[in-house]
Amino acid sequence: MLNRDQIIEAIRMLRRVGVEIHFQCPNPAGHRSMGISEADAAAYAVGAINLPARLSGMSPDEFADWMHSGGYMCCHALTRAGRRCKNLVRGHQVTDSAEWKRLLEEKPYCAKHGG
Ligand SMILES: [Zn+2]
Repeated sequence: MLNRDQIIEAIRMLRRVGVEIHFQCPNPAGHRSMGISEADAAAYAVGAINLPARLSGMSPDEFADWMHSGGYMCCHALTRAGRRCKNLVRGHQVTDSAEWKRLLEEKPYCAKHGG
């Protein structure tokens, strides 16, 4: 097993001969190919970072919630019982992490709750 520094050096050697490293970063609709640094590739290979979350600009918990949702945002209203409404807000499947974070800050409602 290579350590982090050995992995970085191996990737640099590959790049010198024209090999590029791309990461298939998951999102709720599939994957998107993204270029990554040697340091991030090595850190991910040894389990030191959550690369999908980092590349998506999210914390690991935010990223897990986004994937679990399938990219569909639930209403932010509370029901009479005090639980969060489970209706989906109007819109489409959100596969862009920045758009997902923006929507989270807006705390949108479903049609029943005025959204
Ligand atoms: Zn609602």
